[in-house]
Amino acid sequence: MNYTKVILKPGKEESLKRFHPWVFSGAIHHFEKQPEEGDIIEVTDYKGNFIAIGHYQIGSIAVRILSFEQEIIDKEFFKKRLQVAYNLRNSIGLNRGEQNNTYRLVHGEGDLLPGLIIDIYDKTAVMQAHDPGMHFARHILAEALTDVMGEQIKNVYYKSETTLPYKAQLDPENEYLIGGDAGNIAIENGLKFHVDWLKGQKTGFFVDQRENRSLLEHYSKDRSVLNMFCYTGGFSFYAMRGGAKLVHSVDSSAKAIDLTCKNVELNFPGDRRHEAFAEDAFKYLDRMGDQYDLIILDPPAFAKHKNVLHNALQGYRKLNAKAFEKIKPGGILFTFSCSQVVTKENFRLAVFSAAAQSKRRVRILHQLTQPADHPVNIYHPEGEYLKGLVLYVE
Ligand code: SAH
Repeated sequence: MNYTKVILKPGKEESLKRFHPWVFSGAIHHFEKQPEEGDIIEVTDYKGNFIAIGHYQIGSIAVRILSFEQEIIDKEFFKKRLQVAYNLRNSIGLNRGEQNNTYRLVHGEGDLLPGLIIDIYDKTAVMQAHDPGMHFARHILAEALTDVMGEQIKNVYYKSETTLPYKAQLDPENEYLIGGDAGNIAIENGLKFHVDWLKGQKTGFFVDQRENRSLLEHYSKDRSVLNMFCYTGGFSFYAMRGGAKLVHSVDSSAKAIDLTCKNVELNFPGDRRHEAFAEDAFKYLDRMGDQYDLIILDPPAFAKHKNVLHNALQGYRKLNAKAFEKIKPGGILFTFSCSQVVTKENFRLAVFSAAAQSKRRVRILHQLTQPADHPVNIYHPEGEYLKGLVLYVE
């Protein structure tokens, strides 16, 4: 691996001096020697003064900063960062054995490890690299992780086939870096679920909705609940524990519906309050009638890039309009957007337009976001992505 320097254009070090962790390609004046993707690279200002060190990648984000100090990026470096991340999760009560053993250990820039995601499911860590540098570091990362977590971790599964830039041609294989024991039942707030990290979406479970699911539990008593875009059924089993009258889970993926049913059965065997439907959201919303007084809308990211933002906002408007049209008077709507490019304000505007279209009286009860194990680095506001509103609909 090369070790080289990138020299920035005059003044382009300003954002880095405020600890923003990205160097955009347009800020680059020249390289001391052309780096390869994934190389560790030193960033200097135009005069050659050290600014930071990071991973190089071809693309609009050219360097993701690992440190603003002159230090060696090795296993010890990663171990220190992982230790801080682990201590944080312990200190806020997320690692509670039989009560809760599911949490995000590393949230990229939010944990000063740009390009890296690690989710913990009981004894398994699922690791995802979003840049070539983290891909090359995967083995030392896995070792550093077991050094930090000791017996708490038996498996480290690497899952980056779909998250690394295609053009980098790394052809990463999803594989166990450590262990391989397939026990896959994890616990979130006392509720159990199967995690399919081998075939499931993302790392196998949407860890980021934990606190929002908890809030939903408190609103579920005696309500008829629709969990739209249920995936593995997270919101459904919280609603059931909260005393819902009935819970209907809908997802267009038949596999997701199977997982939801399995997870409901795991927590509430034989409970007849739950039914699940493999169906398109819009079709279901059109035919469902007005039976629900608690609706959850947690769609996939409608916009992955800024240039499709307009369409995404239309999508949120249309989807929410259906819910406003159908929800019973006195109903509660939990509505989310996980698109990073859709701001809080834009999302609220889309939901506002939907509400106005329905002519219902709507109050905002809560404004939701991502939980503490998906921290936002204060110098990197782009890390904020999950937005939610809890609405009371007259
Ligand atoms: N609420 C879930 C996460 C939702 S992820 C949780 O708490 O875990 C988004 C889900 O939407 C995926 O499972 C995907 O299969 C589903 N989906 C995507 N397009 C859909 C559509 N048109 N209709 C219904 N479901 C859809």
